[in-house]
Amino acid sequence: MGRGVITLGGIVTPAEAGVQALEADWIPAFAGMTVRGQHTRSGSRARVIVALLACMLGLSPTLVAAPALADSRLPIFDAHIHYSRDAWDRFPPATVLDILAKAGVPRALVSSTPDDGTLMLQRADPERIVPVLRPYKNGIGSGNWFREANVPAYLEERLRKGDYVGIGEFHLFSDANADTPVVRRVVALAVERGIFLHVHSGAGPVRALFGIDPKLNILWAHAGMSEPPDVVGAALDRHANLWTEVSFRAGDIGRNGGISAAWRDVMLRHPDRFMIGSDTYVTPRWETYAQLIDEHHRWLAHLPRDVAEKIAWRNAVRLFGAGNVKEFGP
Ligand SMILES: [Zn+2]
Repeated sequence: MGRGVITLGGIVTPAEAGVQALEADWIPAFAGMTVRGQHTRSGSRARVIVALLACMLGLSPTLVAAPALADSRLPIFDAHIHYSRDAWDRFPPATVLDILAKAGVPRALVSSTPDDGTLMLQRADPERIVPVLRPYKNGIGSGNWFREANVPAYLEERLRKGDYVGIGEFHLFSDANADTPVVRRVVALAVERGIFLHVHSGAGPVRALFGIDPKLNILWAHAGMSEPPDVVGAALDRHANLWTEVSFRAGDIGRNGGISAAWRDVMLRHPDRFMIGSDTYVTPRWETYAQLIDEHHRWLAHLPRDVAEKIAWRNAVRLFGAGNVKEFGP
């Protein structure tokens, strides 16, 4: 589907759409209508259609408030990219930077296995690439890093040389994994330097990490991956230093071209704590990178414009800087 196209494929009858609007857990847009694009004319047509449907259904304007239609695509600060060894030959740095530029991503947090991938990409475009230090390399990975005694020394050595804004993305699959001497040292390193931990885990390990040091800053990968919005909301309520990015969650947040009401509520309650992510954890995801970003644009379009802007890029810029990126101008 091209940009600036309105499809009404999801609507069978206005009455059915109305039932969905009243009963479902998601806010229809309108019940599957997808509005994308840069053409103001399309946006106005869509608003008219939504207004007409609202009249036909006799629904109040608040219930069927027209989505915040983006007249232009928001730039995206991608808070979850990996540039790991498997991708290097097939997608050299210039190709990756081109993919990011074409997808409308002027800046991104990058961590890689091994870390050399991040540094390679950063050298190629220091304004676009914001480095995060991943502990994984040579047999050290998600299942054992938190027990490997030489991990802290490796991280310290790299942190001395690089301008990393965080340590991660790393995995913690249980609360017990978050309570090891290695993890405690990594928490201390992050707090000493005022940098983030980028953590792939459920809500339990997040709580355990804050238990080690409440001054810690955590970027919670994938909003907990499988944690439901009420659990994510409760964690954001509890921990003021917790931010999250929603890689892998677009299917859950956006539904049938709309947005889940439960996710929308949490985002409106904590508009300063969400960011966008793609997670190029395997090489094929570079092939579909533009679609990964598009998935997020679809649900972002159904948030108030100021909230959508915060989630798309302003929150990440506030935390990790804007570089000299013109898209993030005043
Ligand atoms: Zn992850």
